[in-house]
Amino acid sequence: MNARRAELAAALKEVRTRIDDACLAAGRAPEEVRLVAVTKTFPASDAALLCDLGMVDLAENREQEAVAKAADLRELRPDAPVRWHMVGRLQRNKARSVVRWAAEVQSVDSPRLAEALARATGNAVDAGERSGPLDVLLQASIDGDPARGGCPLDELGRLADEVTRTGELRLNGIMAVAPRAMDPAEAFGRLAEAAAGLREDHPEATELSAGMTNDLEAAITHGSTCVRVGTALLGSRGLASP
Ligand SMILES: *Cc1c(COP(=O)(O)O)cnc(C)c1O
Repeated sequence: MNARRAELAAALKEVRTRIDDACLAAGRAPEEVRLVAVTKTFPASDAALLCDLGMVDLAENREQEAVAKAADLRELRPDAPVRWHMVGRLQRNKARSVVRWAAEVQSVDSPRLAEALARATGNAVDAGERSGPLDVLLQASIDGDPARGGCPLDELGRLADEVTRTGELRLNGIMAVAPRAMDPAEAFGRLAEAAAGLREDHPEATELSAGMTNDLEAAITHGSTCVRVGTALLGSRGLASP
């Protein structure tokens, strides 16, 4: 376990250096960029070590895996100030479960999902299973390809209106994954433009969750306030994993 802790500490230091360097190059303050560790496929013991190293924001992309890991982490580190983020595609029938462990859902991409999450949040608060509103990001589809989830850029405004109509959801901003076939700089440029447009009507939507292991520098150049990093922190997930 000590070896793993040292490995994670070194990786974390390296990722923080990349973030600092990208911020410096972009003339931004490193404190403007939140680092979220994507722990998918890795055990709760790794999440616990990341907490020991000062990480607060952790993310998962599969609801079932996340429920179990969040519960395990609560046992391992009952006092750690963890904030779990859901960053993967979410089916409406998982809304009830996700609001019990997630502080934030970054993958809200349809009015129907927003509605289901709002209802589930209200019920969970009434039942004493969560303390307050659910933070949400709208997942944007930069190339408009519906196959991979995400809301087309020109429909974000309407989705934001739906989210803010509910009292249970707090609209924090936008999340996106750069399409594989697109240059990341171009993709994040488009995203930044859409985010600025959204903020005209929803000034509270200030979070821009963009950038992963391979493209975090380009994302920071284009205004990312939250990078979601898995591989560079925890290692390779192998070919069979998502
Ligand atoms: C897996 C995943 C990440 C992290 O990807 P890496 O390339 O391993 O850093 C970020 N965001 C989402 C939505 C993911 O599913």
